[in-house]
Amino acid sequence: MSDLSKAAPQSPSPTAKYRPETRLVHSGVLRSQFGETSEGLFLTQGFVYETAEACEARFKGEDPGFIYSRFSNPTTAMFERRMIELEGAEAGRSTATGMAAVTTAILAPLRAGDHVVAAKAMFGSCRFVIEDLLPRYGITSTLVDGLDLEQWRKAMRPNTRTCFLESPTNPTLDVLDISAIAEISHDGGARLIVDNVFATPLWQSPLELGADVVVYSATKHIDGQGRCLGGMILSSNAFIDEHIHNFLRQTGPSLSPFNAWVLLKGLETLAVRVKQQTESAAKIADVLAAHPKISRLIYPGRSDHPQAATVKKQMHAGSTLIGFEVKGDKAGAFRFLNGLKLTRISNNLGDAKSLVTHPATTTHQRLPIPARAELGISEGFIRFSTGLEHADDLIEDLTAALDRA
Ligand SMILES: *Cc1c(COP(=O)(O)O)cnc(C)c1O
Repeated sequence: MSDLSKAAPQSPSPTAKYRPETRLVHSGVLRSQFGETSEGLFLTQGFVYETAEACEARFKGEDPGFIYSRFSNPTTAMFERRMIELEGAEAGRSTATGMAAVTTAILAPLRAGDHVVAAKAMFGSCRFVIEDLLPRYGITSTLVDGLDLEQWRKAMRPNTRTCFLESPTNPTLDVLDISAIAEISHDGGARLIVDNVFATPLWQSPLELGADVVVYSATKHIDGQGRCLGGMILSSNAFIDEHIHNFLRQTGPSLSPFNAWVLLKGLETLAVRVKQQTESAAKIADVLAAHPKISRLIYPGRSDHPQAATVKKQMHAGSTLIGFEVKGDKAGAFRFLNGLKLTRISNNLGDAKSLVTHPATTTHQRLPIPARAELGISEGFIRFSTGLEHADDLIEDLTAALDRA
């Protein structure tokens, strides 16, 4: 049992040696003197000290412990430690949202004059950070077709410091070769940051594939029940200490202890949820692929996925997400969406409830039509996030809405 009063904000827990499912339940627990079963929720801004000397020692870093919840908090520390041990990273920090994690991981280590290479298929806000925000601070970027390794090689410049990718991509579920891109990044003296949201920590381990930094929106599968926002940056001790630690402390996009507690509870059931959702998704993808109203279907678990060999090489399983194109462009897609009775229309994903998104008019509406077309986001394209409902109920709902579309 950890002595909470003396707990270092991120002391390794003895559970790191267990398998992922076990780590998801036990890693990082800081149990108080009351011996509570469930992780304690420390809704506190700050901490008090027995003496002025103790306070001084805490601030000098001579006495491990908590100072202020913008820096760290027992509940957020438990969440961070569980994520670190799940991912097999050396270190990590939580953030208020996934975008705070992405923005910090990209921006914090860079200086004016640096250059970034990124795969152009990515979450809309990530694209804003790279294309619109970075140039204001003198950081240039090149966007490449993430599947084309030659484009990555050609885009590297002497001042390239960071490469960024997301895989599987949102929303078209392309699977990028992480180890090959890590090698290109390292040959060019740059670090590779991977947004691993779509794969989840269970189905893909970017650090093992050679990436230097992994970022998550914990809002998605990690919460998995639609309740709160959160994010996580995972990397080496050196990267976190040098680039992330102070940036987060001083700029303050801290995860709320309440949300950290919710996310800890989410992690406990992550494996059972994601396994079930993936199993259902595979079944649904096979049914939809054969439906006459669907012109194209992309599912990383199917042998007809365009990068099936890369999926096999770097992922442990398919995905909870399915991408498909409904015939009849926007009108056809909207008729399908409006015909759904069980599946809800939303821009979110990774939830217990199945959710459908029309990226062209929502998450990717900011992009001009040619840029969308280049990414394969047609007017009929739909992203389906598989929930925890019975797969047959979902299949009936989806096929009935398609039949009517
Ligand atoms: C949702 C998402 C984000 C942003 O996360 P928030 O928690 O909404 O800020 C970043 N990347 C990907 C791939 C996402 O799906």
